[in-house]
Amino acid sequence: MELYEYSVSALKKMLQNKKVSSREVTEAFLDRIEIIDGKVQAYITKTAEEALKKADEIDSKRQKGEELPSLAGIPMALKDNLCTKDIKTTCASKNLYNFKPPYSATVVEKLDKNGAVMLGKLNMDEFAMGSSCENSRFFSTRNPWDLERVPGGSSGGSAAAVAAREASYTLGSDTGGSIRQPASFCGVVGLKPTYGRVSRYGLVAFASSLDQIGPFANTVEDVALVLQAIAGHDPMDSTSVDIPVPDYSEALQGDIKGMKIGIPREYFPDELSSDVKDVVQKGIKKLEDLGAIVEECSMPHTEYALPTYYIVAPAEASSNLARYDGVRYGYRDKDAKNVLEMFMKTRNEGFGEEVKRRIMIGTYALSSGYYDAYYLKALKVRTLIRRDFESAFEKYDCLVSPTSPSVAFKLGDRVDDPLAMYLSDLFTVPANMAGIPAISLPCGFSEGLPVGMQIMGKAFAEETILKVAHAFEKNSDFQGQKPRGVE
Ligand code: GLN
Repeated sequence: MELYEYSVSALKKMLQNKKVSSREVTEAFLDRIEIIDGKVQAYITKTAEEALKKADEIDSKRQKGEELPSLAGIPMALKDNLCTKDIKTTCASKNLYNFKPPYSATVVEKLDKNGAVMLGKLNMDEFAMGSSCENSRFFSTRNPWDLERVPGGSSGGSAAAVAAREASYTLGSDTGGSIRQPASFCGVVGLKPTYGRVSRYGLVAFASSLDQIGPFANTVEDVALVLQAIAGHDPMDSTSVDIPVPDYSEALQGDIKGMKIGIPREYFPDELSSDVKDVVQKGIKKLEDLGAIVEECSMPHTEYALPTYYIVAPAEASSNLARYDGVRYGYRDKDAKNVLEMFMKTRNEGFGEEVKRRIMIGTYALSSGYYDAYYLKALKVRTLIRRDFESAFEKYDCLVSPTSPSVAFKLGDRVDDPLAMYLSDLFTVPANMAGIPAISLPCGFSEGLPVGMQIMGKAFAEETILKVAHAFEKNSDFQGQKPRGVE
């Protein structure tokens, strides 16, 4: 077995026992990236030099017998919308093609203090808007299971890098499904924490009331380890919540006998491919075999989640993206004759099609005369969606559904059809609207491609969904399979 194939927790033990050095592990990943990334195209920026420097620092501390934190010396990579001090943070946008932040995001600082070794920054849909990674202004990332297919999005680089073993774990962001949907497409585990569980300070904002940062890894245990390192209150983010963070690795122990799991029927609509449905239903059966009490339930407002999301998210985006005017950041049009023309040309060229579509929809929905009809209405519907979850969680410990209605689709298949693209997030968007945590984990294959199962939990009960996911994973054999496209 190659060093890049080990899980985070296995690497952690090997490093602690001095079976390997962080330099050896880091070099193994850097070589892997050199060999494979030409095909997968997960990385926008590689930071090999900095990575080796950090690895050596960790190794020398270990040699001196210093006590080191849990992720010390383990190589990882970050979605390119997480600010990294003095290292380019592009959001896969022409607008930020050369932007080097003067500070790091809180999660980046936390991982750094935890001894993490950063290999680089990962591709994404521009400003995290998309479901296939094809909206990157630089290039499209490919699915390691089939290089002709998309890795999902917007955190496509983060999912593909973990699947192709180009990083032992990664971070992404999830506004409407951007961690869970690519995790599902690439056959890896991805967790969107509760809104407020992880600080958003230094995450380039898309839709501030929905965005959350979360981990990708090859196992549930690894996701728990990484979540532990990034969770917690941060005075720099007023929406991060000051409540204790449980021990997530501890919470994985024990069985799921007697746990109550709801299966919302609205998450199994006619559009759902029958293969995906079969695979997920088999997964649910397995949870039942493990002792969970499984029951069908109803979440009556589910059908309104996607349309509501496509009012709320663009509205917030139109406001958040007003700052990219050519004055403060990155790209600036050079030929404009006056300042107004400079704003207009910069924004016209700096943003791609999808981002401009969102800004227009959002500005329209917020404009006087339409605000009540669209934005205010959407906020009211959002409350109804949240109430659906609240009443479901009075009865159930968690809810299980498919992560996405289909497996990874072909590159180019949906680029000209925004609605078809938006539908990939049909089952992931509700969790963001309600602010609850949700995880996607591999539960089988359809057409030789991975299918993800989504487990949604009560606000701040990440430990419950991690426990159910871990119980499932221990009793399944989908983990550790090698993606065909990169072997
Ligand atoms: N695909 C959804 C969108 O384009 C979700 C994106 C995300 O979660 N960042 O808005």
